[in-house]
Amino acid sequence: MRKISIFGATGSIGQNTIDLIDRQPSAYNVVALTGAANIEKLAKDARRLNADVAVTAYENRLEDLRAALSGSGVEAAAGQAALTEAAMRPADWVMSAIVGAAGLQPGLEALKQGATLALANKETLVCAGALVLETAKRHNARLLPVDSEHSAVFQALVGEDIETVERIIITASGGAFRDWPQRDLANATVEQASSHPNWDMGQRITIDSASMFNKALEMIETKEFFGTSPDQIEVLIHPESIVHSLVGFKDGAVMAHMGAPDMRHAIGYALHWPERQELPVERLNLAELGQLTFQEPDEDRYPALRLARNVMERGGLSGTVFNAAKERALDLFIARQVGFLQMAEIVESVLIKFETSNGLLDAELNLDNVLQADHLARKWASEAAIQKAG
Ligand code: NAD
Ligand code: MG
Repeated sequence: MRKISIFGATGSIGQNTIDLIDRQPSAYNVVALTGAANIEKLAKDARRLNADVAVTAYENRLEDLRAALSGSGVEAAAGQAALTEAAMRPADWVMSAIVGAAGLQPGLEALKQGATLALANKETLVCAGALVLETAKRHNARLLPVDSEHSAVFQALVGEDIETVERIIITASGGAFRDWPQRDLANATVEQASSHPNWDMGQRITIDSASMFNKALEMIETKEFFGTSPDQIEVLIHPESIVHSLVGFKDGAVMAHMGAPDMRHAIGYALHWPERQELPVERLNLAELGQLTFQEPDEDRYPALRLARNVMERGGLSGTVFNAAKERALDLFIARQVGFLQMAEIVESVLIKFETSNGLLDAELNLDNVLQADHLARKWASEAAIQKAG
């Protein structure tokens, strides 16, 4: 039996992972499941899957979790230290599906104990790419992509020499507002930004898809994961979300990965890698689809993409700062304290402030410096929002 843990088990990726595990319960021994506010769901899955431990990120929910697990034999734990401790428990395969930079430390701990880390949490690579890769290497641990674009690229590269890659083209659906006139975007509401035309995902990544911050994070994730130079990374709007990404080789060939928009494909690929196994996803009927369309993204409309290019060129701690400022700007948008377009303005102003503060972006990329830069970027993003309101 394979020992597995799922961080962010109550979320969209976590539940899709559990759906696959549920179909072959005898193949897995569940070590840890983690969540945050949704205690009931966490406890229900932990009982059914007979996990060793269930952890809520919220310290003040420990008693609720204990009560929900009473008599089950599943251990209850809460808080940051408990998440880290759960990640240190031996496992063969760990799903990293917490949302935000909060996923970084559990992921690092999982790599340190040599587990294979299935990475849905793109923020891990955006905010500490080199540190994460180096940790994996040092502990002989494997990192597998779960983001659909990166899984697609990873699959297109099987058997290929990375030196023959000319470009990587990641596709984007265009999110909730792809057909909106630019002038309406300033007044876009949280509800409008929270519905995605093709994918069913958590609220934060859905809003990030509407603003293209999700694609911006994915450009940086591509650079970190595949070691590609920024000018080899392209973004293509593809409203149907059937082609998940493409790799162009130096002989002009382009390999595209296609499939129905269902995250269980990328999760299942990472779960069964290096094998392919039967998965319960819809099969494509291209004749029925009739056509697939593609468009170049407009970087004026989507400033997040331009900022991502700056971050990739800049390196250092700029990814940490970009992600943290974006997370804070998104909190403020969800709290209705800033407008939709102000999110990118806030992120840009925080990046500029770091760039002009001597040496801040050039500190060594270690966990302490990442956490400090993350903290400061969130603070400065809040201050930038207040200035905008005032
Ligand atoms: P979600 O909001 O549905 O779930 C997030 C999970 O993280 C939940 O289990 C929640 O309890 C937990 N969590 C939230 N805040 C936390 C904190 N501070 N500390 C610890 N745990 C916390 O999100 P999701 O859509 O499943 O996305 C998870 C990750 O996967 C994100 O990084 C996202 O970008 C990435 N991703 C998601 C999809 C998708 O289809 N949903 C696709 C590609 C990549
Ligand atoms: Mg993606």
